[in-house]
Amino acid sequence: MSFVVAIDGPAGTGKGTITKLIAQELGLVNIDTGAMYRCITLKAIRKGVNSLEKSEELIQIAKDSNIHIENHEGNQQTFLDGENVTTEIRCKEVSDFVSQLSSIPEIREVVVKLARNMAEGKDVIMEGRDITTVIFPEAQVKIYLDADVEERAKRRFKENQEKGILGSYEQVLENVKMRDYNDMHKKVGALKIAEDAIIVDTTKMAIEEVKEKVKEIILERRK
Ligand code: C5P
Repeated sequence: MSFVVAIDGPAGTGKGTITKLIAQELGLVNIDTGAMYRCITLKAIRKGVNSLEKSEELIQIAKDSNIHIENHEGNQQTFLDGENVTTEIRCKEVSDFVSQLSSIPEIREVVVKLARNMAEGKDVIMEGRDITTVIFPEAQVKIYLDADVEERAKRRFKENQEKGILGSYEQVLENVKMRDYNDMHKKVGALKIAEDAIIVDTTKMAIEEVKEKVKEIILERRK
């Protein structure tokens, strides 16, 4: 098996930033599974299929989607049916519906398969909600990143402002709380702490400190 670093945790713990930096420094392929659910959600919204009542249509959209991730020195570009949607998948409409859409077991099956295929034969750092428990329970490194909800919302709000994504802090906080609830209560692939995962609470840590801590854990296991 190739070398797999699996990272889970709720929204706003810094998973995306940290995996990108570590991928660059350690020469790992960075795979963000949230981006895959976001692609399917974007496609569904564009087609006007934005309700769980239309689950059959949503499943078909997931099966028909061609999702492709390109890595350039840790930087991930996401393509949906050949179109670069890296920025668009972060918009509020997608963030508001993605955790509902990703609760559909048949859609999770599509993404789990895709994520495993992308990692095949490579040394990867993969982040999401079910990497340590479902996608790669046998990963050599399993980490659960956590932080207080207000701190996570603050980080996500700042990140959105930097990227020019609209919305108030209160809206971001509501979205993060709603996604936490949905993600932790899924029938399949719920966000939970794997028994053998190392928990890193990042509430009071700067991004650089978190990166160093995670890197230290990886290097220890890679010896
Ligand atoms: O990581 P990100 O916040 O972009 O993920 C968007 C959403 O996709 C999450 O809120 C979650 O509902 C879903 N997701 C998931 N399983 C994963 C990754 C993301 O259910 N492995």
